[in-house]
Amino acid sequence: MATIYLDNQATTPLAPEVFEAMVPWLRDEFGNPHSAHAPGRKAAAAVAAAREQVSSLMPSGGQLIFAGSATEALNLAFGKAGTSFKDGRDQIIVLDTEHAAVRDTALWYGGHGFEVVLHPVGQDGLVDLDALESCLGERTALVAAMLVNNEIGVIQPVEEIAELAHRVGAVMLCDAVQGYGRLALPGNVDMIALSGHKIYGPKGIGALWVADGIVLPPLIHGGGQEAGIRSGTLSPALCAGLGRAAQLCADRLDEDKTHISALADRARALFANWTVNGSLEHRYPGNLNIRRDGLDVARLMSDVRGVAFSAGSACASGSGRPSHVLTALGLEPAQVKSSIRLGFGRYNNEEEIDRAAELINRAAGDQLNG
Ligand code: PLP
Repeated sequence: MATIYLDNQATTPLAPEVFEAMVPWLRDEFGNPHSAHAPGRKAAAAVAAAREQVSSLMPSGGQLIFAGSATEALNLAFGKAGTSFKDGRDQIIVLDTEHAAVRDTALWYGGHGFEVVLHPVGQDGLVDLDALESCLGERTALVAAMLVNNEIGVIQPVEEIAELAHRVGAVMLCDAVQGYGRLALPGNVDMIALSGHKIYGPKGIGALWVADGIVLPPLIHGGGQEAGIRSGTLSPALCAGLGRAAQLCADRLDEDKTHISALADRARALFANWTVNGSLEHRYPGNLNIRRDGLDVARLMSDVRGVAFSAGSACASGSGRPSHVLTALGLEPAQVKSSIRLGFGRYNNEEEIDRAAELINRAAGDQLNG
């Protein structure tokens, strides 16, 4: 029997339409989009169309820079903090529950002259805006907050955070990797990062949207591609795939939302005797992070091999580190170890949810009663 894939926060399957959009650029066309001749111009046109498709979900104006991943896009964005250092802005504030792509990048800057604040969240995983405001000041260079948390699915009030950041003259970065194509994006932030493989697009491509007036230093030096900010020859296949994935998300926004919400409601009922980690109200429904006290999730995962799901975050699992997100909610180490993340996506169906719940609940019951 095929594995039931319930780990759509770690990555998503490639949409068939995306595959079709990529094939010509892998099989038939090979022009360098930075060449001036006809094959090059054709490739450049495909890249431009993809840029348009991805940008159409972003706030108006601005510039879209393609990168190799969201991690790279986020690292690029942090360069803005570096340029503010000389103006006496030597503080970076990120939420404690940010993905490692933001949190660890901020900590790197912490080792290079910046004061880094890992701002706490409440038990529900949400930031307290008054507490955040009291941390901000004229030394703040950059504030980063994610739209949807990859581990627990909570939705942060990013527009309100951006308003506070702007009040003190700081720049606001939003990691929208888990929200792009599913939720409305904050309209007042300065930079937004996204990833292809979280929106049923290809791996190996991400992008950073940068508002007008924000000038970034290059992260990668070379031939001057992407307005001199991110050198390197673009892959028309990856760009075309990302563009098509973005367009599909836009076209199917309501359909995907209804489908995923229905799967989430079903799962919530089937896992009613588990406790949900993080806010129930401010939550993306495609993420269900739940725990049952006393459970050993490593054992559960090896007992339930027919379901692909995650213990904590896919990025942290395997590292041996307890999840920094669940720890930030105030959970005890034993509770962190008894938590699982189920991620529902466009290509899951109700039968899969029922079967996965049956397998997981049975194994959990055997473990707890055995
Ligand atoms: N930010 C969030 C919230 C994520 O979930 C991920 C991937 O797990 C990333 C950033 C990094 O994305 P990428 O795999 O494209 O580097």
